[in-house]
Amino acid sequence: MTHHIPEGLPDRIRHYIDGESVDSIGGETFDVLDPVSNETYVQAAAGQKADIDRAVAAASRAFREGPWPRMLPRERSRVLHRIADIVESRDAQLAELESFDSGLPITQALGQARRAAENFRFFADLIVAQADDTYKVPGRQINYVNRKPIGVAGLITPWNTPFMLESWKLGPALATGNTVVLKPAEFTPLSASLWAGIFEEAGLPNGVFNLVNGLGEEAGDALVKHPDVPLISFTGESRTGQIIFGNAAPFLKGLSMELGGKSPAVVFADADLDAAVDATIFGVFSLNGERCTAGSRILVERAIYDEFVEKYAAQAKRVVVGDPHDPKTEVGALVHPEHYEKVMSYVEIGKTEGRLVAGGGRPEGFPTGNYVAPTVFADVPKDARIFQEEIFGPVVAITPFDSDEEALELANGVRYGLAAYIWTNDLKRAHNFSQAVEAGMVWLNSNNVRDLRTPFGGVKASGLGHEGGYRSIDFYTDQQAVHITLGAVHNPTFGKQEHH
Ligand code: NAD
Repeated sequence: MTHHIPEGLPDRIRHYIDGESVDSIGGETFDVLDPVSNETYVQAAAGQKADIDRAVAAASRAFREGPWPRMLPRERSRVLHRIADIVESRDAQLAELESFDSGLPITQALGQARRAAENFRFFADLIVAQADDTYKVPGRQINYVNRKPIGVAGLITPWNTPFMLESWKLGPALATGNTVVLKPAEFTPLSASLWAGIFEEAGLPNGVFNLVNGLGEEAGDALVKHPDVPLISFTGESRTGQIIFGNAAPFLKGLSMELGGKSPAVVFADADLDAAVDATIFGVFSLNGERCTAGSRILVERAIYDEFVEKYAAQAKRVVVGDPHDPKTEVGALVHPEHYEKVMSYVEIGKTEGRLVAGGGRPEGFPTGNYVAPTVFADVPKDARIFQEEIFGPVVAITPFDSDEEALELANGVRYGLAAYIWTNDLKRAHNFSQAVEAGMVWLNSNNVRDLRTPFGGVKASGLGHEGGYRSIDFYTDQQAVHITLGAVHNPTFGKQEHH
């Protein structure tokens, strides 16, 4: 198998602070691996507390003294549109680099690069469309809401679809006039390093965007504990979210957490079976199964269970595993050998917990690299680890159910609550199930298509708060209420209290 190495890889991945590309103050670095060869292809600067301090100082200065927070929304909007234009014009190059760094299939990386541009465009438009909230008590009072950027936003992101997920936080944080320090995931720092050039070209003032690479326990930890960073937007594992929650608590920081998932796809006997098979195959194996909203537990009504499992396994075996750069590839290489080992250990656990009907290890013809064959376990009981725990790879558990009640109990019987997918043509059942399922997002007879205005987020161990649309604007702004008395002064005084 030939392995494509893109042109123009950097000789070193550095931080970007106050408009300059810099190494760590102490010179520390870490290795970044190519997920196909598992060889180190570049060294990245490993940020420490001192580097975070430097980045936060730059972002604070830009916030206190710079033009960005003071610009009109339409002026910021213009810069964000330019960013979207640049991302769009470089989508192929961005996808190539992202695919190389993360192991994502190139066609899917291209879709993610375009989605990143859309995110910027969306928030560029939203910020000018944002209506001011004004409330009137005729003849007596006007109250209005003064939306203010909060300050330095700390953005901590994971390695799955890194560029797109960064855009999701950068778009609204910048649109609302904050300055930022981004700490991207250490497995995939390449695409994050491209933001600096894009932002410079689009005319973002120095100090507004700062990037510190490094390990979570070092750079990430220092960012969360920095007293001058009043809000943290985090996407990653639930366990990391718990640590960040604890570390942010003494400062009472604003927190938004998009965490792990173990989302159910519930297929009722009246569903369009072939459409459900297609969609649930895509739902767990696209993005290499490294997708927070993956429908990694498929619950199937007993009457169609055997037929579903047979069709599903046959289709899983046809999913094309290959070099991430090959446009025919549907499942590429997992991001990193550590993650590969984790996923493979679940495959072995699964063999003792369920009935293996497809995959089950390395695909044939792939002796090296982080390749896992799309793996399907049927008859998985609800207490199995592969039913309960997030694997974050191309591995799915299928479980039968006999009634709506049992389907709901199985769907809700895990600590996570990110997404749920429901396949039925019975309208009442679809709505009743949606109301009762413990999930931040529900897709009915559909797969992960989301209008950017809708909230995105999970319940239970899957997250805290929602981002997306106006929820993101709310998260990244203070909403100060200003109350003005009109005409005669109506101050409440003792003995003449007035409340509204
Ligand atoms: P992770 O929690 O290991 O790391 C995420 C980020 O947090 C990285 O940048 C990491 O360096 C940093 N980090 C780690 N420890 C830290 C600490 N103590 N303090 C501060 N920062 C720290 O997650 P991951 O393995 O990179 O990503 C996969 C996880 O992300 C999965 O659980 C997946 O479901 C979840 N995810 C959720 C969503 C969502 O929207 N709900 C989206 C994508 C991924």
